[in-house]
Amino acid sequence: MNWQATVITLFPEMFPGPLGLSLAGRALEKGLWACRTEDLRQHGLGRHRAVDDTPFGGGAGMVIRPDVVDAAFAASQAPADVPRVYLTPRGRPLTQQNVRRYAAGAGVLLLCGRFEGVDERVLQAHDVEQVSIGDYILSGGETAALVLLDACVRLLPGVMGCEESGVEESFSEGLLEYPHYTRPAEWEGRAVPEILLSGNHAAIAAWRQKQAEKITRERRPDLWSAWLARKERNMAEAVGGAAQTDHFGV
Ligand code: SAH
Repeated sequence: MNWQATVITLFPEMFPGPLGLSLAGRALEKGLWACRTEDLRQHGLGRHRAVDDTPFGGGAGMVIRPDVVDAAFAASQAPADVPRVYLTPRGRPLTQQNVRRYAAGAGVLLLCGRFEGVDERVLQAHDVEQVSIGDYILSGGETAALVLLDACVRLLPGVMGCEESGVEESFSEGLLEYPHYTRPAEWEGRAVPEILLSGNHAAIAAWRQKQAEKITRERRPDLWSAWLARKERNMAEAVGGAAQTDHFGV
């Protein structure tokens, strides 16, 4: 069975959108994944197929009704056991770890908000995970859904040409990736770091590791402290493990 993306949205025309091209597009053509949309408007109420209403408690904007979303969930033919995800700035940040979990399963069911968002009760009723793609506000969940799907699809078996490029990249070790260089070796007076031309693979690996650590420390203090903590834990475990071997060896 291929990986099934199902997207509940007021704008089904936005899918697969950019994911119909390049890597994800070729994978779509090959049937490695499939993208279905469920048009929220089809489940709207009355002559105007209204999907939203004013917020209880007052305030600006409109909120998408729970009954309308519920009907869309019921109509969507998503496999029963796939994670249900609502894209929202109020969600937990999307991480590569989550992306790996989604990609390893049968697919995802994504709910795209508009206006002020979706009535909270329908999210609870359907056990929906709330996921944010970053600390900024988009006009709708569709572009966030495309981001999540892009990140998942490239990890599906057979999608990326070089399997290794998925293993050795930013976040895979908890660090941001080292900088890249290609030909020409000198460009507009800027030379490539000498070591990359040395052919000394161990020295190159050490340089890249150093660069990854430096960039992570400068740009992402949050990732840096987590990485340091993990390293310390691993070292403690290694020492503890060695001590234990000695003990049993005696
Ligand atoms: N009033 C909301 C923002 C609504 S933006 C708030 O302050 O939290 C409208 C829709 O865009 C949301 O329902 C959500 O589906 C989507 N959206 C906006 N920013 C997003 C983000 N950073 N990540 C994921 N989805 C987002």
